[in-house]
Amino acid sequence: MKKIEHIGIAVKDLEVSNLIFEKLLGVAPYKSETIENQSVTTSFFEIGSHKIELLEATNPESPIVKFLEKKGEGVHHIAFLVEDIKLEIKRLKSEGFVVLNETPQIGADNKWVAFLHPKNTNGVLIEICQEIK
Ligand code: ZN
Repeated sequence: MKKIEHIGIAVKDLEVSNLIFEKLLGVAPYKSETIENQSVTTSFFEIGSHKIELLEATNPESPIVKFLEKKGEGVHHIAFLVEDIKLEIKRLKSEGFVVLNETPQIGADNKWVAFLHPKNTNGVLIEICQEIK
């Protein structure tokens, strides 16, 4: 684990939240992108060497819909940057964590991503991500 890469925040309306975070941070999002396989549209803000990812559902089956129903808007996940995601998945499994997708998926912002089940991480959804080269 190299650093916290970004914090993901689940929102109901990306347009509204983009404006809120633009005011809050004093910068516009540098990227907005829809990830079909995860049923989300995201936008990214850069703050120093960290990022904020806003996530909006693209359809009723999106995990973001379920999250909003259960918990409402708010922090959805913390993402850690890793050097070698496959190696890290192996290591985390051997430590007893439950990896939700053992094959890394293509995520937002040019990354391979995998998620850990929050039941083993004090209720926090953890993402690990690796830059796609
Ligand atoms: Zn993320």
